[in-house]
Amino acid sequence: METAMSINIAIDGPAGAGKSTVARRAAEKLGFIYVDTGAMYRAIALYLLRQGVKPEEKEAIAGRCAGAQVSIAYQGGEQIVSLNGENVNGLIRTDEVTRMSSAASAVPAVRARLLDLQRSLAAEHDVIMDGRDIGTCILPDANVKIFLTASTAVRAKRRFDELRAKGDTSETLESVEEKIIRRDEDDRNREISPLREAQDAVHLDTSDMNIDQAVEAVLSICRRKGCLSCDQ
Ligand code: C5P
Repeated sequence: METAMSINIAIDGPAGAGKSTVARRAAEKLGFIYVDTGAMYRAIALYLLRQGVKPEEKEAIAGRCAGAQVSIAYQGGEQIVSLNGENVNGLIRTDEVTRMSSAASAVPAVRARLLDLQRSLAAEHDVIMDGRDIGTCILPDANVKIFLTASTAVRAKRRFDELRAKGDTSETLESVEEKIIRRDEDDRNREISPLREAQDAVHLDTSDMNIDQAVEAVLSICRRKGCLSCDQ
């Protein structure tokens, strides 16, 4: 029996561009699964930190990452990331994990651990998947590729406002911006799967858009590419 091919929408872009918020909402509207690949790298990073590994210890990262089993489930549309069977959603958004995830994601053994999981989710479901290398490496044949970005100042301000909304006053706008710039540089300049805009990606700059406008822009790109019906 022939099975219908799933629809795959790839969204890549730098940190703080609003990828996850926009992708989650667009997926909800479409009845697709939202796959946050950054959360998978974050889960491996948490594992490594718990093993006492430091971000600069590339060999230890490569050697130890085999012990991290990452899996994904969905509860009420929310992606639950499990690390060796433990739900770690609430533990992977710290600064320490962010730093480690960026360092670990430059190590080939770490990327190799997540490749099959990401590809099989996309093969089995209609997905909007966000990350850094989805359109370029993970899903080169995605139906739609979007490079979602915004100016550095806008991205920093969004992150800063998010922190303030959570009651976190530990950072200044300048320090948030500095960290975003550093992480983008690391993600763009690494040898393996660097953050790059796919040749066939649609460039979407959301600097002057609110979330609703950015979601609508994503949906309209998908319609234009012919992979959604007009009423979606
Ligand atoms: O998207 P998020 O900020 O959660 O990602 C955390 C880190 O994981 C990124 O800075 C990047 O280094 C890495 N990452 C990656 N490839 C992806 C998704 C995330 O290298 N597809």
